[in-house]
This record gives sequence, structure tokens and C-alpha cells, in this order.
Amino acid sequence: MDLVEYQGKQYFARYGVPISAGRVADTVDEALAAADDVGYPVVVKAQVQVGGRGKAGGVKLAADRAEVELHASNILGLDIKGHIVKRLWIEHATDIAKEYYASFTLDRASRNHLAMVSARGGIDIEQVADESPEAIARLQIDPLDGLDQQAALQLVTDAGLDAEALEQAAQILVQLYRCYIEGDADLVEVNPLVLTTDGRVHALDAKVTLDDDAAFRHPEWSEIEAIGHVDQREQLAKEKGLNYIGLNGTVGIIANGAGLAMSTLDVVNQVGGSAANFLDIGGGANAEVMANALEVINTDPNVQVILVNIFGGIVRCDEVAQGILDALERVELSSPIVIRLDGTNSKQARTMLEDHRSGRLVPELTMLGAAKRAVEIAGGRS
Ligand code: GDP
Ligand code: MN
Repeated sequence: MDLVEYQGKQYFARYGVPISAGRVADTVDEALAAADDVGYPVVVKAQVQVGGRGKAGGVKLAADRAEVELHASNILGLDIKGHIVKRLWIEHATDIAKEYYASFTLDRASRNHLAMVSARGGIDIEQVADESPEAIARLQIDPLDGLDQQAALQLVTDAGLDAEALEQAAQILVQLYRCYIEGDADLVEVNPLVLTTDGRVHALDAKVTLDDDAAFRHPEWSEIEAIGHVDQREQLAKEKGLNYIGLNGTVGIIANGAGLAMSTLDVVNQVGGSAANFLDIGGGANAEVMANALEVINTDPNVQVILVNIFGGIVRCDEVAQGILDALERVELSSPIVIRLDGTNSKQARTMLEDHRSGRLVPELTMLGAAKRAVEIAGGRS
């Protein structure tokens, strides 16, 4: 789950990371009230799940009420890279002396956490990484060791932060690391982390991605409001308890087991198609689960064909076939369905499906054959 800036800042604040005083506002009037409350000058900031808001006109300084009114009315409703602004964060403006960058994320290759700090913050960090990778100091952190003040101090020193910022920045890194670990985040990023003209260091922006798999440890997460962009297909899948990830292609995919689902994506790609989703229905490939899966895929307007790829190990293929046939009675599909069933009782299953073969229901013997047929029906790569 990606948090918007103000939610990220509220998350930071729990771990002691300093932020500017601010309030949310959904209307111009609320923006004015918020600005009066936090004190002028203020910054009016669009709350959308996308970076580069500043460049897109979604972050504006306002010296007085008239400017708040002007900027709030311009920014509310603004389209920033396809995200419509519905909420603002109004915070007391900071006098910036320097803009730095700091983040924690998982480095899968080294099986460690990775801290990155740069004295060149504020701008696009990908650009810094491309043009002058030496400007980013990196530290791999063994989860068993953690990060202490001394190691953090070394890191911010290596990154070339200004002398007067070092101690505070190091302490903020330790707090951010706790936020990242104890807060079960996959990513925390502060760009910019600023040094103010009066010598204080604090987080001026916040990007936090929470690890959805840790939600069971955080009942309080259910209160975090989903703001802005929610993938409707993923939302429906979640309600139905399905393991679904939306993608951009035209071949809807249903498979049992995450490994088989991934291989199915690969094979579809290999034969020139593109997957519309990842969907693992697990072991319980009964009519109920199958109907739910078909229903979710059916809501995706990009889908041209559905590919069902089931390997019956413990689950019996004839039961799955019956499940599919029952499900097809319940859900009116907008696209044809190609089915490959193999494994336990696959012979009976195939006989059952053959009896229903049509232009809308196409049984295939092999995974590769099924993928080829599906991609043919979908008309190749989207
Ligand atoms: P982003 O463009 O989506 O990354 O939004 P940020 O929150 O990072 O804001 C973009 C830029 O606006 C920052 O890099 C700052 O240069 C500027 N900015 C944001 N808040 C303030 C503030 O309180 N005072 C000043 N002077 N500039 C600010
Ligand atoms: Mn930023």
C-alpha cells in the first residue's frame, strides 16, 4: 500500500522523525482554515500517489490568505500524471538552506536492507543515479545488526552532507530505519530532507510503501484511508479473497499455484502475447472460487481471452472442470476461454470439457498449446 505524503509524514512522526506542522484540506475553505491554523507562510501540496508534484504545479508557496485561495483552487482537481487531486496538505513553509535525499529499501540481490543518502536531494534521484552515481552514498544493513547512530553518522558523512546537519541527519536516519523496520514498510523515502536556514534538519516530503503482507500485525492500517488511485480490479479481487495482481495486457490468466501462474505469464509472453493479470486460485479450484476469478477478470475491458491453466495434484481435474462449467453458468463472460487441465483425473475432465467445446470454450492439451491458442484469439501483443 502506497501512502500519500501526509500519511507518510504522520507515519514518520510516530517514530520521532521531525516534520513541518500541517493539516489536510479537501476544499478551498478548509485550506484557508488550515493555513490560518498552521501559520503563514504555508505550502499548499497536492496529495496524490505520484512524484514530481512540484514540477507539475502541485506544490505552491502561499504568503497570505489570498495566495492560499488561489493555489488551493488551482490545485484541487488538477490532473497530475493521470491522478486527480482531491486532497491538499497545508503545512507551515520552511526556509530551506539545503535539500538532501534519504531512503531505506530492500536490496533483494544482497539480501540486506539498503540505505541511500545524497547531498543532492530535491531533484529526481533517478537522474542523480544516472548522471553522478558517486553522489549517492549507500549502506547495506544486515537486518540482524540494524543501524546505530555511529554507522548512520558515517553514512551521512560519506554522502557529503553539511557539517552542521550531520548529527541531526544521522539521528533521523536511525528513526527512519525504525519506521521502516517496525513500521513494516517496503520503502521509506525522504526527498528532500532539508537543512533549514536556522540549522534544523527535517523531512519535507515523505514516500512510504507499506508491506501489505504485514497487515495482520497492524490493525491500525485499516484506518488508513485509500486516497486517489485504486485499481478497481484489485479492489474487487481483494473483496473476494483472491490473490490477484492487475497488469496491462489482453490475456486474462487463472492458474492454481503461484509458480504455475508465473510460468503461465512467461509462456504467454514467450508466444507473443501479454498478460492482463496474475491470478493464483490456490488449491481450492471449486466452482465458487472459479466463478469469483472469472468475474474479476471479466471486469477488465482490456481482456480479449481468458486462459485457465490448472495442474491437478491434490485437486482433481474433473472437479475443476465441473467447477468451470458451473461457474460459466453463473458468469456471463465477455471473452472466450481457453482451458488446459492436466494431472489427476485429467482424462475425465477433458471429456467433460469436450462436450461443451465451442467458439467460447476451447480446451487445449498442453500449456504451450493453450497459450498459443489464447494469444491467437487475443490477436497478439497489445
Ligand atoms: P514532489 O515534487 O512531489 O517531490 O514534492 P515535494 O514535497 O518534494 O516538493 C517539491 C519541492 O518544493 C521541494 O523539493 C522544495 O524545493 C519545494 N518545497 C516544498 N516545501 C517547501 C517549503 O516549505 N519551503 C520551500 N521554500 N520550498 C518547499
Ligand atoms: Mn519530493
